[in-house]
Amino acid sequence: MTRGRRDDRLPRVRSGTPAPGGAAAPGAVGAPDAPSSPLDPAALRDALLDWFASNGRSLPGRDDRDPWHVLVVEVMSQQTQIDRSLAAAATFCAAFPTPSALAAASPGEVLRAWAGLGYNRRALALRAAARAMVERHGGRVPDDLASLLALPGVGPYTARAVAARAFGATVMPVDVNVRRVLGRVLDDPRPARVQALGDLLARSADGRPGAIADALMDLAAGTCRAREPACTACPLSAWCGWRASGAAVAGRAEQGSVPRGSALPGSGSRRPALRAPGSPVSGPAGALPFPRTRRWLRGQLLRELREAPPGAWSTVEGPRGTHDHAAVRETIATLAREGFVELDEVGRARLAED
Ligand code: SF4
Repeated sequence: MTRGRRDDRLPRVRSGTPAPGGAAAPGAVGAPDAPSSPLDPAALRDALLDWFASNGRSLPGRDDRDPWHVLVVEVMSQQTQIDRSLAAAATFCAAFPTPSALAAASPGEVLRAWAGLGYNRRALALRAAARAMVERHGGRVPDDLASLLALPGVGPYTARAVAARAFGATVMPVDVNVRRVLGRVLDDPRPARVQALGDLLARSADGRPGAIADALMDLAAGTCRAREPACTACPLSAWCGWRASGAAVAGRAEQGSVPRGSALPGSGSRRPALRAPGSPVSGPAGALPFPRTRRWLRGQLLRELREAPPGAWSTVEGPRGTHDHAAVRETIATLAREGFVELDEVGRARLAED
């Protein structure tokens, strides 16, 4: 199991009197407008865990530490709300209870089980990771960070999340939301600094780095929001450099927003929508209405093929919405090249069965 290593880029940590219960205790460790109280990781940890005990979201399945279940939830939650991800992961893991079961499934079977989640590349990337686990790790999720990172499609956030939540490794998964919270506490959003503070908290977590990660996630979701953070209700306010600087009141430019950190191919980026040739542009940033995007068309075609009987060939002809026949055929061909779909000799399509 990977243990956090010391890092010379750690935030400056001073010894000091922890705030009782982690709350902002006037006069004890510094008032909110008198930055920042010493960044004592034990005090921050206690504040977070006390707050989490009373304010954390109660989500069915969240305490499940089975490594495979944790990995599936983490992959799903890259682009899906955590409550929906937990529910969907329970269903998915019932169909594919182990990496070996997923590795043995066809792309079509996996894509059907992924219905409703979108960003279908994640499904095939998870299958590729499962196949690698069968080849390299006897069908088990590896318990060290290096091996997790070596799985196809598993990036730093997901690897750290699995290592911390499933195996208790003292590393912190830092996504854009956790980065916002810790970056504000430091009043410094630089990734290395934020990661260093996160890892420091994980090392102080007495074997519960996953609980610290959950607490930070919930704090980001409901209190340290991207806009209008509720600083008066925040357990970290006594240490928060961003608040002390007055930025929270002044509404200074943001340090991160909602989408979750991602590593699986194509699933993590929020790329601008592609514009079909000749189609009008709308919106101040030139973004297309979603139904006019290729992403919408890909999802629509996969939905149709998913609803066909397994193994049955479908004739796919345009148009679909604003997409003409040529765009539909081009998209089907792309889906085939990417392994989602297979085509027969007369151009009919079905979800890939091999
Ligand atoms: S909610 Fe306010 S005090 Fe708490 S971490 Fe965010 S900006 Fe700082």
